[in-house]
Amino acid sequence: MISIKSQREIELMAQAGAIVARVHKKMLEIIKPGISTLEINKIAEEVILENGATPSFKNYQGFPCAVCTSINDMLVHGIPDHTILKEGDIISVDVGACYKGYHGDSAWSYTVGEVKDEKVLDLLKVTEESLYKGLEQVKPGNHIGDISHAIQTYVEAHGYSLPIEYTGHGIGRSVHEDPYVPNVGKAGTLEVLKKGMCIAIEPMVFMGKPHCYTLDDDWGVKSVDHSWAAHYEHTIAITDDGYRILTKED
Ligand code: MG
Ligand code: MG
Repeated sequence: MISIKSQREIELMAQAGAIVARVHKKMLEIIKPGISTLEINKIAEEVILENGATPSFKNYQGFPCAVCTSINDMLVHGIPDHTILKEGDIISVDVGACYKGYHGDSAWSYTVGEVKDEKVLDLLKVTEESLYKGLEQVKPGNHIGDISHAIQTYVEAHGYSLPIEYTGHGIGRSVHEDPYVPNVGKAGTLEVLKKGMCIAIEPMVFMGKPHCYTLDDDWGVKSVDHSWAAHYEHTIAITDDGYRILTKED
C-alpha cells in the first residue's frame, strides 16, 4: 500500500534527508586515494549519530555496516571492508539515516583522486543527469512509469544500461516502502503520483551490459562483463505542482 505523508511527516523526512546530505558533503572531503571503505563507513556513521539519527541500513536484513560502498564494477550494496581506494577508482556511497522514525536515502558516485578515463567520467555525468530526467516527470497526475521511461530513454541513448532487478522505492517510516520505482519502463504505466507520496529515485547504471551477479557475501552486486557502474539517488516528496528534494542540506 502506498502511504501519503502529512506535512509534519515530510518535515521530519527533510530533517533525516538533511543529515544524509551532510554525510555526502563529508564524503566529498574524505574520499581520496589511501582511505579504506571501512574508514569511510566509520566517518559516515559518526556524522549520522552526531546528528541524532541512526543508520538506516545497519542490520537492515542483516547488512553489517552503516553505508554501502561500491567500487568500480560494483553496482550496489558493497560491504565496507579493508579495501583501499586507488587513484582513478570510482565509488558509490549509499547513505540512509533515520531521524525521529523517518528515513532519508541518497546515493552518490565519487571519483577517487583524478579519473582520467573520459568514458568513466561520462558514465558518472549521464547517470547523474538521468536522475534529473526522472525528476522532471514528477508531479501529481503523472505516473511512476513516466519516471522510469525518462531515465531509461536518457541512459540508453548514451549507450549505457540499467539492470531491471534494482529499482527505486517508496520511503517513510520504513526505508523501503511501496511503490517500486523502476528505472526501466513505459510512460503512462504504474501508479499515479499524488501529493504527499515520498519516493527515492535511483538510477543504477552499467557502462556495458545490464547483467549482474551477487557476490558470495550475499550483498555486493557486480557486472558480469566487469564494466563499471554509477549510482545517484535522491529522496523526494511530491508537492502540489512538482517535487521537493528531501536529501539536501537545509
Ligand atoms: Mg540508497
Ligand atoms: Mg534507495
